[in-house]
Amino acid sequence: ILSHLHPQPEDQILKLTALFRDDPRPVKLDLGVGVYRNAAGQTPVMRAVKAAEKQLWQDETSKSYTSLAGDPGFHKVMRDLVLGDAVDHTRVAAAATVGGTGALSIALDLVKRAAPGATVWVSDPTWPNHVPIIGKCGLASNVYRYFDAENRAVNFSAMMEDLARVAPGDVVLLHGCCHNPTGANLTLPEWQEVARLLTQTGALPLIDLAYQGFGDGLEEDAAATRLVAAACPDTLIAASCSKNFGIYRERTGIVLAVTPDAAAQGVVQGNLAALNRLTYSFPPDHGARLVTMVLESPALRADWQAELEDIRTSMLGLRRQLADELRARTGSDRFGFLAQHRGMFSRLGAKPEQVARLRDEHGIYMVGDSRMNIAGLSPATVPALATAIAACGI
Ligand code: PMP
Repeated sequence: ILSHLHPQPEDQILKLTALFRDDPRPVKLDLGVGVYRNAAGQTPVMRAVKAAEKQLWQDETSKSYTSLAGDPGFHKVMRDLVLGDAVDHTRVAAAATVGGTGALSIALDLVKRAAPGATVWVSDPTWPNHVPIIGKCGLASNVYRYFDAENRAVNFSAMMEDLARVAPGDVVLLHGCCHNPTGANLTLPEWQEVARLLTQTGALPLIDLAYQGFGDGLEEDAAATRLVAAACPDTLIAASCSKNFGIYRERTGIVLAVTPDAAAQGVVQGNLAALNRLTYSFPPDHGARLVTMVLESPALRADWQAELEDIRTSMLGLRRQLADELRARTGSDRFGFLAQHRGMFSRLGAKPEQVARLRDEHGIYMVGDSRMNIAGLSPATVPALATAIAACGI
């Protein structure tokens, strides 16, 4: 029976990582995989997370199961972090999940139960895992136009035109901040228009929030999610703690479901718990507990915010430096978008053959669609990247 399986396509980003590892050149630059790295090229455990881990090691007396939807303390801190006071808390159902990916999967399973015929609309382009997960959950997908490849900015009028065609009961997947892979984001007034359109069409927003704190700040990066949740009768949010707490391998995420009223909340909460049960019984607890400890302790929280702010501003600094260096080398402002984009990624807009030249001639590795991880740079390596981009005629 198992011989009937089809070979799976190789993961392009992991393939790139292997190519980079095997490249013998002493000077090379990995701008591929989406993991934050500091100027020394490390992905450190954040100070507050380490401190919480030490405390947990001392204080934890049992590793018995938690509840099916995870720890209510985790739900509360994450609801506050993501939603603030945007909606009445009695309307919010929540379940801890296996990372942001698990949150997307459980959220889409929930959609499949509520509206099996729904189509899920994703931005063109989007995170490459979105469409396969939608398919795995048994739902149809479609794309709405998003990125203007010419200007490396959002094509807002095209996006709105496409979202106007969405049927009532369909789902619109939105990146809450720091769009992956493009780095191009909506302004708040544009988010307001999107929220208005969603309420007019009766579509259900599903917000993927994987980079809160990596763009303009913790509160600023949650603003769009809060605005949409406040405007729409119901909203699904898949939040990841992988990046902003640096706990990638702990697999920590949450589904937040904003429901029309407290009665609906109870039913949705029961369905989220049931879906967790069907998928993996209990969600992982270690990362969720660390997040809860950090957010509940004023001292740990302040230290976490300070370190997260350093991470955010270091990426902004690299963006500005790269845009400046490219302006100096090309005599044009066509790379100004790099300083406007937010988050870990920007799509450079290079052709596949130029991406190959960057790799072959300069040892610079980025994903084939020319998405580059800004956090793979350091102030010392930016000039070499700018020189290579100019040399490849991008
Ligand atoms: N959504 C987007 C847009 C992402 O970039 C990622 C991480 N690459 C995720 C979700 C999932 O993150 P996690 O590692 O927490 O599953």
